[in-house]
Amino acid sequence: MSFRIALLGIYHESNTFVPEATVSADFINGHYLKGDAIRKEYQTAHNEIGGMMEVMDREGMEIVPVMYASATPGGTISANTYSSLLSNMMDELEKVLPVDACLVIPHGAGVSEEFPDMDGHWLSLLRKKVGKSVPIFGTLDLHANVSPLMVSSTNALVAYKQNPHVDMRQRGVEAANLLVQFLKGNTNPVQVLVQLPLAISIEQQLTAHEPCKSLYAYADELSSDPEILSLSIQHGFPYADVEEMGTSIIVVANGNHDKARDTARKLEKYILDRKESFVGHKNDIPSSLNLIDKSEKPVLLLDMGDNVGGGGPANNCCLLEAFEESKKYKYFVCIYDPEAVRLAESHQPGEAFELTIIGTGKNGVKTYRPKVKLVRITNGDFQESNPRHGGQINFRMGKTAVVSTEEGSVIMLTSLRVMPFSLQQLISQGVNPADFDAIVAKGVNAPIAAYAPVCPTVIQVNTPGVTQADMTLFKYKHRRKPLFPFEQEL
Ligand SMILES: [Zn+2]
Repeated sequence: MSFRIALLGIYHESNTFVPEATVSADFINGHYLKGDAIRKEYQTAHNEIGGMMEVMDREGMEIVPVMYASATPGGTISANTYSSLLSNMMDELEKVLPVDACLVIPHGAGVSEEFPDMDGHWLSLLRKKVGKSVPIFGTLDLHANVSPLMVSSTNALVAYKQNPHVDMRQRGVEAANLLVQFLKGNTNPVQVLVQLPLAISIEQQLTAHEPCKSLYAYADELSSDPEILSLSIQHGFPYADVEEMGTSIIVVANGNHDKARDTARKLEKYILDRKESFVGHKNDIPSSLNLIDKSEKPVLLLDMGDNVGGGGPANNCCLLEAFEESKKYKYFVCIYDPEAVRLAESHQPGEAFELTIIGTGKNGVKTYRPKVKLVRITNGDFQESNPRHGGQINFRMGKTAVVSTEEGSVIMLTSLRVMPFSLQQLISQGVNPADFDAIVAKGVNAPIAAYAPVCPTVIQVNTPGVTQADMTLFKYKHRRKPLFPFEQEL
C-alpha cells in the first residue's frame, strides 16, 4: 500500500536576549522553500530532510514537500513574520490534503513575539488540522527547549544525538523509519517527555567529550531494550527566556508508557547525580591568548559570546582587539559588517587603507580602525559537501571583502551573518587556514566539525555578548524553577 506523507517545518533557534527581531527577510536570505524546491535543496544534503526522503523513496511511499522555512539563528521572530510563515505553510498544506502522515522539522527552540512556544504552537495547529488519526513524526535539534505541547501534538520526535550536529541525516532516517514501522502496523509508539530541573552549560555540550560521552553511552545501554524505539536528550538552548528552557529527555516506547517514563527517569537521575560535571570551566581572553604560545597551531579560538549559531551578531570584536593590541599572532577573523564591505569595495586590490569596523566590544558598540590592504571582493557564495553541523550545502555571505593586516593576519567582512560551519568559508575566498597561528570562529561546539581537521588545538573563549557562556549572568523572567545551575539546591 502506498502512503502520501506531507513534509513541513518552520525551523529557527531564537535568542530572546538579542534586541533585533528576526523578520521575513531573514528567512528569505536563509531557506524559504516550497514543493519540489525542498527536494532539490536537501535530497543529497547531510540534513534530516534528505534522510526522511531517502527512507520514503526506498519504501515506495510518496513524500509531498509542503514548505520549509529556516533563518540564521537570531532574535525573537516578529509577530507578523511568524503569522505570515504559518498562514503560508497552512495554505500550502491545504492544497495537498488529505495525507496519510506528516513528517515535521521543528527546531524546538523557536520563539515568536506572540508565541514563546512557537514550535508547540504550529505543531498543535497542525494536529488540529490533520486530526488525531494522522500520525505526526519528526526531528528536533539537540538544543531544543521542549514543551509538553510539542510532545502532545506529535506521535514521536527524535533529536540529533551529536554536537556538532553531524548526524542530522541519520536522525531524519530514524524518524522516518519509526513512521514507516507505524504505518505498516508493526509498532505502537508512545512518547514521554521529562523536563529536567537542570540546563546543561553550553561548553559541556560537546558529545564526543566527557561528560556527554558517558551520558550517551548510558543512553545507548537503555535504548538496547527492545521496547524502547527511540531515546533523545535535548540539551536545551540557554539563550531563550521561555518556560521550557533547559534540558529534557524524550523516550518513545512500543506501546509501553510506563517503560518510556521509567527509562526517561533513569537517564534524568544519571544526569542529576553528576550535575556539577555539566557546568564547565571558562577561559578568559588573556589566558586564551597565552595558551596559543604553548599550543600546536593553528589554534581554533571559539568566540563563545558571539555564537552566530546561537543568534550572536557576528560582529563581536573583542578577540580582534586583543590580537591587534598584542601584534604577536597571525590570526583570521570573520566579521559581519556590510558598511565595512562597502568601504573596502571603494579600493583596488593591493591598495592600503584604514578600515572602519563598527562592531561589538565589551561595553557595547565600538569602532575599530585597523590599517589593512584589500585582497579581494567576492559575491560570498560557497558550497559544502561534507557532513557538517547544520547539514547545509549552499551558503551565502553576501558581498564579501578579504583584507590583510601588515602582519599578514586576515579579516573577512561579510554582508550577511554567516555561521562558521564550513572550512569552505575560508578556502572558497582564497584563504588558507594553515597560514595562521589562530583562527577565530564565532561559535562554541558547532564549528569544531569543520575546523578540527586543520586546527590541532581548540580553545573555547569566554567572551562577552548575547551568547556568553555563563547563562547565570542573564536575567530570566520565565524559566522554570528550580533549575541548576541557577539554583544550586534541587
Ligand atoms: Zn543545535
